Amino acid sequence: MAELDADEKYRTCPECGRDCEPVPLDAEGLGMRISFICPLHGVHTVIDPFEEHH
Ligand SMILES: [Zn+2]
Repeated sequence: MAELDADEKYRTCPECGRDCEPVPLDAEGLGMRISFICPLHGVHTVIDPFEEHH
């Protein structure tokens, strides 16, 4: 279940270690992305949710 570990890693803000909620981003022309937004530090991680399914 390495995918769960990866998800946990993505959620954590590298600045403060806060556990951030995933927020869907519909980037026009780029497709769907998931961003993780720290209330203190802003967006710290953006992932492509479909990348893992290749
Ligand atoms: Zn933070």
